Amino acid sequence: MPLQNSNFELVSGLEIHVQLNTNTKIFSADSAAFGASPNQNISTVSLALPGALPKLNKEVVAKAVRIGLALNCTINQINHFDRKNYFYADLPKGYQITQDNQPICVNGFLEVELSDGSTKKIGINRIHLEEDAGKSIHDQDDQYSLVDLNRAGVPLIEIVTEPDIRSAEEASALLSEIRKLVRHLNVSDGNMEEGSLRCDANISIRPAGTTEFGTRCEVKNLNSMRNVRRAMDFEFGRQVEVISNGGKIIQSTLNFDAEQGTTSPMRTKEEANDYRYFSDPDLQPIHISDSWLAEIKSAMPALPNEISKKMIAEFGISKADAALFAEDLALLTYFNVALPLVNTKKSLINWLIGPVRAILNEKGIAIDAYNVKPTQLATAINLVDDKKITQQIAIQQLLPAIETKADANVADLAQALNLLITDNGDELGTFIDEVLNKYPQQVEAYKKGKKGVLGLFVGDVMKLAKGKADAKKLNELILEKLK
Ligand code: ADP
Ligand code: MG
Repeated sequence: MPLQNSNFELVSGLEIHVQLNTNTKIFSADSAAFGASPNQNISTVSLALPGALPKLNKEVVAKAVRIGLALNCTINQINHFDRKNYFYADLPKGYQITQDNQPICVNGFLEVELSDGSTKKIGINRIHLEEDAGKSIHDQDDQYSLVDLNRAGVPLIEIVTEPDIRSAEEASALLSEIRKLVRHLNVSDGNMEEGSLRCDANISIRPAGTTEFGTRCEVKNLNSMRNVRRAMDFEFGRQVEVISNGGKIIQSTLNFDAEQGTTSPMRTKEEANDYRYFSDPDLQPIHISDSWLAEIKSAMPALPNEISKKMIAEFGISKADAALFAEDLALLTYFNVALPLVNTKKSLINWLIGPVRAILNEKGIAIDAYNVKPTQLATAINLVDDKKITQQIAIQQLLPAIETKADANVADLAQALNLLITDNGDELGTFIDEVLNKYPQQVEAYKKGKKGVLGLFVGDVMKLAKGKADAKKLNELILEKLK
């Protein structure tokens, strides 16, 4: 019988590079910002001029510890940097400063949720600190390659998983969970398009039901969730075919061609670099004191999954709605400021996931850029819940008015703009009479049992009242008159 895909199991471990969002680089005061014009963010250290010495950015260590704690790692309170030696134009020192055998975090795990609702625990082997390299640009000049060193020295952490991944779905669930966490912990912007999050996928296969690992290939530099899945699917198929045809997998490093969706060899193990790691004599070992570690721990925010569980339990909302808050720190902060000010908690949730979200989507902004402050939104919601203003007018007129008047007192503004519900029964009564007189036939029809025309009356009276009437009350008044 010929061998088929289902006779094999995929085995994979990821090496995930996360660019940290510190202001300055890992070993110098050069800006670590993305998007400056070429070679703007460089000084002696980034250029590796002779005698320039690295000085560790403490914030980098704190951020690595935060992510390590979130990934259930043991923090190595004493760890050190090593030199990884290789020659490349965008690496002026001739070595990358990284961590080899004594990384900052080890032995963690992360639980991810799969589409069938099951969870999968994936081991984290280690997290190490390192610096990014510069960028070589080959397509801007016919004769020369250009070098931009802005990225040289930007802080990275590399998260290395155990070979626990068994499908492309598990890999992308893991990546998206890590992206969520680094954003939540303000460790990185997690932006895959800009390269702040990228990964190498180690892939092997083995006969289903066996426990020994096969020979792995490493696909380099996958820069989108989709490409991770495509590369894994392709590589799985390729390896199955090689083995089914009686061939052998050669341990190698592969490129992924995003256009073709295929992998191709970069180098085999025999051609692999010998990096000659040794500890960097220019940098002292890092010593994370007990008290600093305790300080970082106590400043850790609740993690997305904890927030989500809490919101479901407390407010009885759906998992999907809870995720909106758990995965958007700005929204959660806004929510927490407004919460003590609203009369009905559930209303606040409904507003934030309903109308406010729609407004933000339309504007294409996040909630921290919204010109209605949480205190102001809370007042607007209370006005609606107290039937002082209709929801429609609040959304269409009051909120836009607040936006243009930064510090407006919301209740005063609603009053000044004449948006409040007219609870003047006499005035409504006049409007109702007017409308009922306009439609004698329909009134007749209503009395004969055609109750559907009521909507027509309500709509017309509402128009005369310029929308400023409580619909329920209006209904009652009209029914009264029709008796
Ligand atoms: P190296 O130091 O040679 O890169 P590591 O032990 O650090 O090797 O492993 C690198 C990555 O490869 C890890 O994410 C690990 O989980 C993964 N890996 C190791 N063996 C296999 C295998 N047989 N198949 C798939 N992935 C593997
Ligand atoms: Mg490796």
